[in-house]
Amino acid sequence: MRKKISEIQIFRHIIQIVFFILLPGLFALAFGQVKLIYTMILKGDFNFIQAFPRLIATVAIIPITIFFGRFFCGWFCAFGSFNDFVYMISSKVFKTKFKVDRELDSILKLLKYFILVFIVFVIWTKGNTLFDNSSPWDAFALITNFPKAITSYFIGFVLLAFITVGAIYIERFFCRYLCPLGAMFVIISKFRKIKIDKPTEKCGKCRVCTNNCAMGINLYKMEQVSSGECINCLKCVDVCPRSNPKISYMGENLNPAFASSIAIVAFATLYGGSTVLGSIISANTKVSTSVASNDITKQGDNINSNSDKTSQNNDDTQTKTTQNSDDAGANSNSNSTKTAPKTKAPSSTTNSKYKDGTYAGTGYGYMSDINVSVIIKNDKITNVKVDSINDSYKEPVNVIPQEIVQTQSSNVDVVSGATHTSNGIMSATSDALSKAKN
Ligand code: SF4
Ligand code: SF4
Repeated sequence: MRKKISEIQIFRHIIQIVFFILLPGLFALAFGQVKLIYTMILKGDFNFIQAFPRLIATVAIIPITIFFGRFFCGWFCAFGSFNDFVYMISSKVFKTKFKVDRELDSILKLLKYFILVFIVFVIWTKGNTLFDNSSPWDAFALITNFPKAITSYFIGFVLLAFITVGAIYIERFFCRYLCPLGAMFVIISKFRKIKIDKPTEKCGKCRVCTNNCAMGINLYKMEQVSSGECINCLKCVDVCPRSNPKISYMGENLNPAFASSIAIVAFATLYGGSTVLGSIISANTKVSTSVASNDITKQGDNINSNSDKTSQNNDDTQTKTTQNSDDAGANSNSNSTKTAPKTKAPSSTTNSKYKDGTYAGTGYGYMSDINVSVIIKNDKITNVKVDSINDSYKEPVNVIPQEIVQTQSSNVDVVSGATHTSNGIMSATSDALSKAKN
C-alpha cells in the first residue's frame, strides 16, 4: 500500500525548502560565528555588544535550541535538508532501508564530538582559517558555481561527495555522525523545554517509531525523548499507530503544528530582530568612527600648520611618511598623522594617494555581483556603502564597510561563515579605490 505523507511532514518540507532557498548557508554562518566567539575569547577581546552585528545567526539559533531542542536541524538547516532530500530520493529508488547496527551507530555518533574537539584544538593552536577551503559546507554553498569553485575548494567538494554517498544509505548521515554544530546542539538541547513524551505501556512489541526515527534513536525503550540527538522531525509522532508520542511543554500536550509554528515564529522574530539591532549597532559605530576620523583629520591639519611655522626639514621622517601612506592602511593612517609636522607640505597635496570624490566599484560575492560606492575625503576612506547585493546575509554588509573605514584598508577580516560575501565587498572596494588613485 502506498504510504501517505502526513500534513505535518508536508509543512516541515515546505519550511525546509523555504530555508534552503532563502538562507542556504545559515548552518555555516552559525558555525563560523561560534568559531568567531571562541577566537575572540582566546584573544581576550570578546565584547558582546561590539561583536553583536557579526553574531546574528547564533543569537537567533542558540535560544531556539535551548527552548525547543534541535528544531533548527530538523526544519531550518539547509545541509540537514540536503541529507533528507538525498535519502528520500534514494529510498524511492532502492525501495529498501539500509540498517546500521545499533552498537556501531552509537560508536559512530561519537565521531562528531571528536571533530568538534579537533576543530577547537586546531583553532586554538593554528588560528581560525585553516579549514577555510576544505569545508564541505562551503563547497555545498558554492555548488551552483562548481566550475569556478572546484579548484579552490577541492577538498571541500571531495568531502561533500563522501557525505552525499553516506546520505544515500543512512538517513541524516552527516547530522548523525559528522556535524560539529550538531554535536554542540546535542549538548545545548539537553536543557530543552519542549519535549516528546512517549509512554511505553501501550507499545507492546511495536517498534514503528524506532524504525522510523531519522536519527536512529532507540525510542521503544524511552518514556520521554531525552536524547539530544532528536532533531524534532516529528516522524515518531506521525507514524505511531496508537498515537503514543506527544509533544509536551511542562507536562501539557501541544498540537505538533502549533508547537512547530511557535518555533518558526520565534526564530523569525529573533533573526529579524537581531538583524535590525545589528544594523543599529553598526550604524552607531560608524558614526563614532567617522567622528574619530574627522578628529584625526583636524589634528593633522593643525599639526601641518604648525609644521609650516617651524619649517623644520627632516628627510628621514619624510621617507617614513611615504612608506606608511601605502594603501591608506590603519597604521599608515596614524603614522602619517604623527609624522605630519615634520613634512614640508600637507600630505593631502604631495603624498596623497587618493583624489577626493565618490567612486563606484564591483566585486563578485556569493553567486552574484556586489556594487559599492566609496567616498574619499582628504585622502581618507570616509564611507563605504553597499549599493546592491543579492545575498540574504546582512552581517558582512553591516560589518565589512565599517571595518574598511576603521582600518582605512580594503583588506580586513572576513565575517566567519560569510567568506564569499565579505570578500566580494572587499574586492568591490578595491575596485573603487583603484579608480580613486592619484
Ligand atoms: S546536525 Fe548539522 S548539518 Fe545536520 S541539521 Fe543540524 S546543523 Fe545542520
Ligand atoms: S525522536 Fe522523533 S522527533 Fe526526534 S529525531 Fe527521532 S523521529 Fe524525529
